[in-house]
Amino acid sequence: MSDYQYTPEHWSQGDPVANYKAGQIVAVTVNDRAATRQAIITVLKKSGYTLVERSSWGAKPPRDTLTPSNWDYSDVVIHHAGHSYSCAVNEQGAIEQMKKAQEYDMHGFYDIGYHYAVSCNGEIFEARDVRFVGSHVMGDNTGKLGIVLLENLAEAGEAWQQEYSRKSLWEKLKGTLDIGRDAVAFDHEMPTKAQLDALTTLIKTLKEFFNLKALGGHREYQLLAPGHEGRACPGKYGMQVVTQMRSAFGLAAPSK
Ligand SMILES: [Zn+2]
Repeated sequence: MSDYQYTPEHWSQGDPVANYKAGQIVAVTVNDRAATRQAIITVLKKSGYTLVERSSWGAKPPRDTLTPSNWDYSDVVIHHAGHSYSCAVNEQGAIEQMKKAQEYDMHGFYDIGYHYAVSCNGEIFEARDVRFVGSHVMGDNTGKLGIVLLENLAEAGEAWQQEYSRKSLWEKLKGTLDIGRDAVAFDHEMPTKAQLDALTTLIKTLKEFFNLKALGGHREYQLLAPGHEGRACPGKYGMQVVTQMRSAFGLAAPSK
């Protein structure tokens, strides 16, 4: 992108200032964070993507005060939205998917858990405001940006293989409904080219503002988190996206 005003440099923490050089330490104030959020939107726009901001998709306000991020994002966690999400939607449908995802997450959290979402048509949505820590890896969200792909990328049986087969009988009983749903053949989808292009642009943009080191699927991060639980997310096909993005951006696999 020849018309970028921002010269990508690697700094230890996120910074909103264009042409910021590594090595200069500047305190990142709360206002700078607002500027960074805005600068991310501007750079996406220059790349041809209009970030669908929370106000544009009708996000509800958080239920309670969110925890400000330490502004130390180093990892990108890829999720899929799961079973009841499909690519067969237009832009309005994708907005409904965002509302549904927020509604679901707000049963347990104060807001939608991820920071960004990418639809099959290649729209990029703002989910939780990036100034706040996400809720997308159980017990371990520090320094992690969450991006969700708005469809199901898992095959039938993956929740059993990745998650329930490791659990106690009691946990299996509690998950009966979930296991039942997983066992029934359901349609999975493949990420679309428009979606992969949008995701690539989003990661490239985030990499300009944060010193990203690793990228992985939710299942990889959850295994490393306290409790070492399994997760199907982001599914077999989502993990193919993970492998592709890691190599495209030279990012490491998650590690402790
Ligand atoms: Zn997930």
